[in-house]
Amino acid sequence: MEQVDVLVIGAGPSGTVAASIVHQAGYKVKIVEKLQFPRFVIGESLLPRCMEALEEAKFLDAIKKQGYQEKYGAKFEKKGKICDYAFANKFSEGWSWTWQVPRASFDKVLADTVAEMGVEVVYETTVTAITFNTDGSSVTTIEDKNGVESKIAARFIIDGSGYGRVIPKLFNLEKQSNLPPRKALFAHTVDKKRSMDDEPNRITIVVHEKGVWIWIIPFSDGITSLGYVGDVEFFERTPGTTPEEQYRNLIASQPYIAERMKDVELVFEPRTLQAWSATTDKFYGDGFVLTGNVTEFLDPVFSSGVTLATVSSQLAGKLVVRKLKGEAVDWNAEYMDIMTRGVDVFRSYVMAWYEGTLDTIFFADNQDPLVNRQICSVLAGYVWDLENPYVKNHKTILKKLARTIELRDMIED
Ligand code: FAD
Repeated sequence: MEQVDVLVIGAGPSGTVAASIVHQAGYKVKIVEKLQFPRFVIGESLLPRCMEALEEAKFLDAIKKQGYQEKYGAKFEKKGKICDYAFANKFSEGWSWTWQVPRASFDKVLADTVAEMGVEVVYETTVTAITFNTDGSSVTTIEDKNGVESKIAARFIIDGSGYGRVIPKLFNLEKQSNLPPRKALFAHTVDKKRSMDDEPNRITIVVHEKGVWIWIIPFSDGITSLGYVGDVEFFERTPGTTPEEQYRNLIASQPYIAERMKDVELVFEPRTLQAWSATTDKFYGDGFVLTGNVTEFLDPVFSSGVTLATVSSQLAGKLVVRKLKGEAVDWNAEYMDIMTRGVDVFRSYVMAWYEGTLDTIFFADNQDPLVNRQICSVLAGYVWDLENPYVKNHKTILKKLARTIELRDMIED
């Protein structure tokens, strides 16, 4: 039986970042990936905070060579009103830019880079079963594309299997998210009428109607990712019998994009995804840690997915190294509490977005520049900076600010 120090499940950003960090410490790491790369996955707008993780994984040089679209901010639009956050103005220290990436290419670059470092990556191979021994070591059953089974013994497992959620599914650790199920309808478009003023170097989020929004993510090759997100019922009442008909009807009904995207050529037939929010009881156990989407994925609105995936893997990778060295690791305090804190900040912002609280804040007249810088930090992914009141008091501060704006507007009227 093959023996490795660490088996990583999944070659997405969370799997490859963790693999790189453990490999750099001198351990034998193997990644098992179910699909052949390049493979499509959604999640194309990164946040500056993920650059720290990509840097520690030594991926930045390889990514820079790809010429991906640089991203400097996030813009929100509602009925002609604009709110534009430039990451350079953010309150917290740290990176003020990142990239917008077609993930098929990006994930392949990360996986190829970690393979060049010396990590073995096997594709079209699925983890089907795991048995843990009392000392935390394990035997994992994998199946290749021809249905041939083999086993790998590992001292530790990092589960970065994303929506596959391998360990939570195998060991009944899955828990329902407290967010209602939502759906996305999206495609890549050949965006010939792209505005070159404030795009393409940021993501644009358009409020279509309450609870329904659009992402516009331009790539450097002239392709733009355009997706609608809303509750399932919104799509049920959208006219059209095929995804493409619905997609084109939605484009035609939204003034911000109708002219630009009318008759736009699609790179692929619009796809749908739904009910993606999921979580799990525990982010770790004897002999394993869960990273990235396997721990919790909330909602795409603030592009937090890849950032939480890479930051969790960066942290988990370092803790796994300590564990392999025989040091004590308090997984609850040193991993789960920290990750949960960051996820909870985003959760407050996601809830405030769908409730309309953030609309009041984003599109208010006479905004306070310091508050803008503090909110901008959260939008850049700096959700662990407790110096920032918009991080520290995330559960209450947004509602209080929105209420103050509403009262001020009432008095002024
Ligand atoms: P993944 O990228 O999903 O990688 C996991 C890998 O594990 C896959 O390659 C899979 O094939 C493999 N795998 C699964 N099961 C097995 C198995 N049994 N054996 C072996 N391998 C396995 N995030 C952003 O940052 N920005 C965005 O703009 C954004 N937009 C989004 C829009 C929508 C509609 C949705 C639903 C999500 C969006 N996300 C976004 C989230 C983003 O998709 C994820 O957070 C991100 O891909 C997580 O990375 P990961 O490495 O954890 O998982």
